[in-house]
Parts: sequence; structure tokens; C-alpha cells
Amino acid sequence: ASADIVSTIERVLKNFQLLHKEYTFIFDQRGNLSHQVGISDHHLEQVLIILLDNAVKYSDKNKNITILIEEMEQDVKVIIEDKGIGIPEDQLSSIFHRFYRVDKARSREKGGNGLGLAIAKQIIEGYGGNITAESQVDEGTRVQFVLPFKS
Ligand code: ATP
Repeated sequence: ASADIVSTIERVLKNFQLLHKEYTFIFDQRGNLSHQVGISDHHLEQVLIILLDNAVKYSDKNKNITILIEEMEQDVKVIIEDKGIGIPEDQLSSIFHRFYRVDKARSREKGGNGLGLAIAKQIIEGYGGNITAESQVDEGTRVQFVLPFKS
């Protein structure tokens, strides 16, 4: 159920807040969540960890990281927003490809293989959803995924 989505998000956020005390994690739930979506807890947790991990890796301490959840007409939308370094527009469509990393020099010092977002995309699409990103360099990044209601 969407309610379960909320408790999974809250649990993962609580863990991130404990691990990264220098960041402020904000949970923003818009309206009522009355429909069920089909994603397993385990997969949702995996996706959230990938996206929150990136938000932490690619933004400065003391910056807010926000998760917003909202029920739409046919699906549930989840947005993870950071105030970090951002992603150049011409590279936005590549970040979901396996092994793709923006600016190898910049990314190398942060570790990682460029696999996280490809895995997140595979999971979300496996449930009939989709995942996209918007970004402004030096302003921040919003990664959004939607999951259709269970029929
Ligand atoms: P890992 O495989 O450990 O997740 P990664 O972070 O390099 O490593 P992805 O999560 O697939 O891999 O991200 C791909 C690239 O997209 C990253 O290398 C980074 O350059 C860019 N990126 C992803 N999320 C963000 C973000 N929130 N802000 C800025 N750049 C990002």
C-alpha cells in the first residue's frame, strides 16, 4: 500500500539521518495516499538508498535533502531533491546508463561505479514505473520516480 511506501521512506530517512548528521533530511507528504502500488519493500529501499546516497555524495554538508511523495491520478510520485553540484544538461540523459559517470575526475574521488542509477531504473521499470532527473549545475538535482497503482 502507499501507506507502506511512507513507512519505508520514513525508516530509510531515519537511518540516513543517523548516518549523516551533517545533512538535514526533510520528508514532505502531499495529500492523502489511498491507493496501493506494487513495489516490494526491499526494492523500494534499494532505490531510496541509491538516490539518497547520491544526494549526499554530490552535495555539501548542511544542505537540505528533501523527499516528497504525492499521489497522482494513476500513480504515486516520489521526488528526491538535493541542493548539490548538479548535472550538466547534456549529460542528464546518460546518468541512467550503466557505468556512466559525470566528469570522471569529479566523480572518482566520491567513489562509485556508475551503476546505482542504472539499477534504480531497472527496478522502477520492472514495476511499470519510470524514473527521470532534472538538474541545474551548482543549484541541485531532482530525481523523480513514479509507480503505477496496483490494478
Ligand atoms: P554508484 O555505482 O556507487 O551509485 P555513481 O554515483 O557514480 O556510483 P550513479 O548512481 O549511477 O553512479 O550515478 C551516475 C552519475 O550521475 C554519478 O557518477 C554522478 O556524476 C551523477 N549523479 C547522480 N546523482 C547525482 C546527484 N544527485 N547530483 C549530482 N550528480 C549526480
